[in-house]
Amino acid sequence: AEIELDLFIKTFLSEFEQRRKEKNLRFEISVAGNIKVDPEAFKIALRNFISNSIKYSKNDGVIIIRTENNFLIIEDRGVGIPEKDLKYVTSRFYRASNARNYSGSGLGLAIAKHLLRKFGIDWAIHSKVNLGTTVFIDLGSIKI
Ligand code: ATP
Ligand code: MG
Repeated sequence: AEIELDLFIKTFLSEFEQRRKEKNLRFEISVAGNIKVDPEAFKIALRNFISNSIKYSKNDGVIIIRTENNFLIIEDRGVGIPEKDLKYVTSRFYRASNARNYSGSGLGLAIAKHLLRKFGIDWAIHSKVNLGTTVFIDLGSIKI
C-alpha cells in the first residue's frame, strides 16, 4: 500500500501521547512524501525507535521527526549512547552502560533491525553520549 507519510506519522504518534505528556516532551514533526511499505511492519520498527527516544529523553525535551533527502530522521536530545556501546546496540539483549537506570530488555533495536532488513530498508543510528541520538531511515531503499 502507498502511505502518505505525514498523516501516517501523525496518526501513529498519537499512541505515544500519554508517555509524551508524562515527560513533558514536544514532538516536532515535518515529514512529506509517500512511501510504499507494509504499514504494520514499518510501525513495529518505528515504535521501537520512538519509544527509545521517549524513554532516553530528559523531561521537557524535544523529539524531532523529519524527512530530508529521502531519509526519515528521528532525533532526540536524550542521554545518548557511549561510543564503545554503539556498534552493539542492535544485538539482542544488549543495553548500553548508561541505560541501566531505564527499564528495558535490549530487544527493541534488534527487532527493528530484523524487520527493516526484511524489507531491504537501509538505516543507521548516530549518537553522542549526553547529546542525543539520531536514527536515519533511507526511504529510497524500500523495496516491496
Ligand atoms: P527494549 O527491549 O524495551 O526496547 P531497550 O530500549 O534497552 O529495551 P533497545 O531498544 O534494543 O533496548 O536499545 C538497545 C540499547 O541502545 C538501549 O538499552 C540503550 O542503551 C541504547 N539506545 C537505543 N536507543 C537510544 C536512544 N534513543 N537514546 C539513548 N540510548 C538508546
Ligand atoms: Mg527500546
